[in-house]
Amino acid sequence: MIDLHSHILPGIDDGAKHMTESVEMAREAVQQGITRIVATPHHMNGKYVNVKEDILPLVNELNDRLKKENISLEVLPGQECRIYGEILEDYEQGEILTLNNNQKYLFIELPSNSVPRYTEQLLFDIQVKGIVPIIVHPERNAELLESPDKLYQLVKKGACTQVTAASVVGAFGKKIKNFSHDIIQANLTHFIASDAHNIRNRTFKMDEAFQTISKEFGQDVEYLFIENAELLIEGQNIIKEVPERIKKKKFLGIF
Ligand code: FE
Repeated sequence: MIDLHSHILPGIDDGAKHMTESVEMAREAVQQGITRIVATPHHMNGKYVNVKEDILPLVNELNDRLKKENISLEVLPGQECRIYGEILEDYEQGEILTLNNNQKYLFIELPSNSVPRYTEQLLFDIQVKGIVPIIVHPERNAELLESPDKLYQLVKKGACTQVTAASVVGAFGKKIKNFSHDIIQANLTHFIASDAHNIRNRTFKMDEAFQTISKEFGQDVEYLFIENAELLIEGQNIIKEVPERIKKKKFLGIF
């Protein structure tokens, strides 16, 4: 299994603090059945700046260490880029790193409470460059939770999304769990990934999430997510189902 989203690189964001923690995370990943993991450190989120040339050597360093430790996990390069107006200019400058460095898929993180006004235009401009923007954890964005139609519009216009495994199993609470299930049900997501930061409170939950997905939505849906992650890594087109609107549920919790 491939995990597309992790903060496993040592000492560059709020993920693994040092190499020892990176190795601990790698061991846990292997336990979960993960064979390849994309390292996606935060970039431009107000706290961390991690450009492409900082990330690539650290990925090599971690892979060397894992080999020495006999841990069969391959780390691939990536980045979790917070949305900002000059992303494409900085991409041209070589600062932005696509997933597995294949110039095809880019992780875009929205602020946690809002969807900036320019989002739709910027996601369009990214696609014009031949890159597919992937909105990470839409289920944890307060504005999308309030107005799921905004997510539908973005996906309809070609954006992909990635839901966090921990959200699916309820680790971020019931509201986010339910929203993540609604998103899966309405074909508004294309990838499930861990966004693991450590092995304590923000761990992988990948096998648990896939068990839940298989049970709730069927094995076909589980396989689609697993296959999409592979296609992404190979730089190929992924499988997309027709996006649907999330129906507003009324009078929930009345009983
Ligand atoms: Fe993340």
